[in-house]
Amino acid sequence: MKYISTRGGMEKIPFKQTVFEGLAPDGGLIIPEKVPRLTPEELKTWSTLSYQELALNVFRYFVDDILEDTLKEIIYRSYQTFRTKEVTPVVKIGDIYILELFHGPTWAFKDVALQFLGNLFEKLLLETGEKINILGATSGDTGSAAIYGVRGKKNIAIFILHPHRRVSEVQALMMTTVTDDNVFNLAIEGTFDDCQAIVKQIFMDLDFKRRYRLTAINSINWARVMAQMVYYFWAYFRVCEKEGVEQVMFSVPTGNFGDIFAGYLARKMLGEERVPKLILATNENDILYRFVNFGDYSVGQVKPTISPSMDIQVASNFERYLYYLLGEDSEKTKQAMEKFASEKTLKFDQNIIEKIQQDFLSDRATEEETFETIRTFYENTGYILDPHTAVGIKAAYRFKKDIPIVCLATAHPAKFPETVSKALGIEFELPDEIKKLYHLPQKYDILSASVAKVKEYIEYKAV
Ligand SMILES: *Cc1c(COP(=O)(O)O)cnc(C)c1O
Repeated sequence: MKYISTRGGMEKIPFKQTVFEGLAPDGGLIIPEKVPRLTPEELKTWSTLSYQELALNVFRYFVDDILEDTLKEIIYRSYQTFRTKEVTPVVKIGDIYILELFHGPTWAFKDVALQFLGNLFEKLLLETGEKINILGATSGDTGSAAIYGVRGKKNIAIFILHPHRRVSEVQALMMTTVTDDNVFNLAIEGTFDDCQAIVKQIFMDLDFKRRYRLTAINSINWARVMAQMVYYFWAYFRVCEKEGVEQVMFSVPTGNFGDIFAGYLARKMLGEERVPKLILATNENDILYRFVNFGDYSVGQVKPTISPSMDIQVASNFERYLYYLLGEDSEKTKQAMEKFASEKTLKFDQNIIEKIQQDFLSDRATEEETFETIRTFYENTGYILDPHTAVGIKAAYRFKKDIPIVCLATAHPAKFPETVSKALGIEFELPDEIKKLYHLPQKYDILSASVAKVKEYIEYKAV
């Protein structure tokens, strides 16, 4: 498989070259040049595979420049760190299925991709003898998942900025209790926006970026998207087997459109008739909800919510879907994205809206509705939802008819104990593994919100 840019301005590249890339050189996003459709025989074989075997079979389509045994070893190593043998178990709660994506080291779904990416990085760097320094800013989830992805790995150092005393206690502990030599937690005296601005400025210094081989870990990375496709197949087969059906729908709590785009590709491979719709669930940051329902993709103000990992305005993976929506026409995609960059809005006509709605349904949840969903779901079933998953559950019930729905559980409630306790009116008991974090040694450095200070720090500690 070769890879192309959504904007058409890149020579085809092999998989390995996508791994360390964010954007394509022409400003587009990297996508596979074609998406295969599974044969009935493949469907039958895949339906009985273990999670790891399934991952190998999915990746084999998209990766032809890594030896199969090597790929297999990376996959097995990546999912050994999960707390369940099934990696991402599917559980039936009441009349709905929940795909639990939170059994990795940082209790949220980003581990599924970042455990894999960390091992992939290490393997490819050992082949070439190169080194990288990963730099990123986090308000919570992504930073800890990235740190756990590369902790202790050779030829990689990671620098993660978080706003000092402004991330939740559990989230801070998940980062600062990682004391490996190659992990650097920078607690910045400022806000998350300050952290992001510093990272952005450092990446803009191309000389510095080259000298230290700075690498971002962001949700537009193709290998991350690819790793996320696996659990859609996994859940599809579990539910079909259990219900004796051939159609399943998915409800996906969505922010940057990475997770649901993986679902879109898995659906293409399975065949649209098997997954009639994907349900795109947003919180009050609802640009994607407006896109699906009204063809209106217009930037508003980011509003902080109780499902913070979905607080986005511009969805960084959106362009990938746009490319398919516009008939795989890279010229049209480029024009649309350039228009969006200057006008901050895209409006689609009725024809296109109908096309979008063949792929997606969408609902949004207010803060009140999210609290309410956590509360009533617990009252009815005894199952505790995290606030992100609650947004997905609310949307799932809005569209539930005869076809079974799988809601992706993107985080464990223990990551958001304050919100969950407030919703339920009872003190939420943390799992022992998380309680333990409070007693572990911590490693972090407090720095002022200064680009120069952070650069100096990286110069001193980089590999
Ligand atoms: C990142 C994240 C999301 C959103 O995923 P996208 O791929 O950005 O759409 C949802 N829930 C949780 C808990 C997350 O960490």
